[in-house]
Amino acid sequence: MSLAGALISLQRDVCGSVRLREPLARHTTYRIGGPASAVVEADTVADLKQAIDICREADVEYTVLGKGSNILASDRGYDGVVIVLGREFKRHEVDGERVHTGAGVILGHVVQDAYSRGLAGLEFAVGVPGTVGGALAMNAGTRDRWIGGIVESVTLLDHDLSLVSMRGSEVDWGYRTTNLPSKGVVVECVLALSLGDKSAIRRTMDMSLSQRKKSQPIGAPSAGSIFRNPDADSAGRLIEAAGLKGLQVGGAQISDVHANFIVNRGDASAMDVVTLMDRAHALVKERYGIELTPEIRFLGPFNRA
Ligand SMILES: Cc1cc2nc3c(=O)[nH]c(=O)nc-3n(C[C@H](O)[C@H](O)[C@H](O)COP(=O)(O)OP(=O)(O)OC[C@H]3O[C@@H](n4cnc5c(N)ncnc54)[C@H](O)[C@@H]3O)c2cc1C
Repeated sequence: MSLAGALISLQRDVCGSVRLREPLARHTTYRIGGPASAVVEADTVADLKQAIDICREADVEYTVLGKGSNILASDRGYDGVVIVLGREFKRHEVDGERVHTGAGVILGHVVQDAYSRGLAGLEFAVGVPGTVGGALAMNAGTRDRWIGGIVESVTLLDHDLSLVSMRGSEVDWGYRTTNLPSKGVVVECVLALSLGDKSAIRRTMDMSLSQRKKSQPIGAPSAGSIFRNPDADSAGRLIEAAGLKGLQVGGAQISDVHANFIVNRGDASAMDVVTLMDRAHALVKERYGIELTPEIRFLGPFNRA
């Protein structure tokens, strides 16, 4: 089956929206990215399986996206199918101290709901954009607190398109890493919280939010931290020390608020962002002998010199 055949099958056989030649700029917080061959919203597990099955049959690349808040999508788009999780994945419910949540739920909604019920454990995640699925795939959080630490169990659609459940304790969670199967799709999870003091939860969340407002370029389109922090140092400190804070290439700028953020000042291309990343990477390596590794994920072709 060709790409065209796969797109016809997706439109015919998947109950959810299928948008052809859909700009990825609409699906990333960076607001950057050319068209994907298709963006498919799978409403149910059956639709998700069907969409993946069609892509595989046709040998068409596919990937799952949450809110695209950790993604730099190529200016040339993505020659493949982007799958986003729809209706059935956007529900969560609270049972005592446990939150059962679909992977398509916005993480911030779970954080607020937990707070409103006086459940502690998710305060560290306040202000982290994106979905629960994206958070698990990235093990989102701070430098020393992350979502993996409160995952009681996670259900994945694995490479064989079977649903498998794992206990959170069976997964290796590290700073922005996990060994969740790389081709698996997180469909839901259970987060274990604990009853706490509501005003103390609010205070911790407020402190964390005000720290973010002070130290991050909130409001300007970005994908959060561009590089992972190296051991015992901070990527932002190193980039700033290299004198790159505020540097602009095209429409992209190394933020003058936080040097590990590259912001889109309105008309940035993915190549503008990559050029700044390459500059920061090269200069930090030359000056301090430290190799920065990207935290953001790339989607689509990036042919660099
Ligand atoms: C202003 C700003 C602040 C940020 N602050 C933080 C922060 O404090 N801490 C932090 O950790 N991150 C932060 N981020 C980065 C980002 O928000 C997180 O990585 C977030 O968890 C990504 O979620 P998402 O749904 O947007 O995932 P996406 O960006 O859409 O996807 C990220 C990766 O996860 C994969 N993925 C998505 N959904 C699934 C799924 N259901 N199953 C399997 N794989 C999946 C994708 O294929 C991709 O590889 C920030 C970003 C911004 C823009």
